[in-house]
Amino acid sequence: MKEKGDILVGFCPECDTRIRFHSLPRLGQLITCRECNEISEVVSLHPIELDWAYAEEDSELQSRRSTGR
Ligand SMILES: [Zn+2]
Repeated sequence: MKEKGDILVGFCPECDTRIRFHSLPRLGQLITCRECNEISEVVSLHPIELDWAYAEEDSELQSRRSTGR
């Protein structure tokens, strides 16, 4: 069975909690995770992907992050 419409969910980059959207978010939209209160940013829409919102401000931090997981 096919789901009706798009499933608008992303996953918190911090704790992997599923975050549902009531409507398609915009790129760059900031989302606060209800589980860990981490602020993440919509970086992709198909599928919806979230990344840390502060990653864009500090590219050094972003490259360091890739070794963390
Ligand atoms: Zn979270």
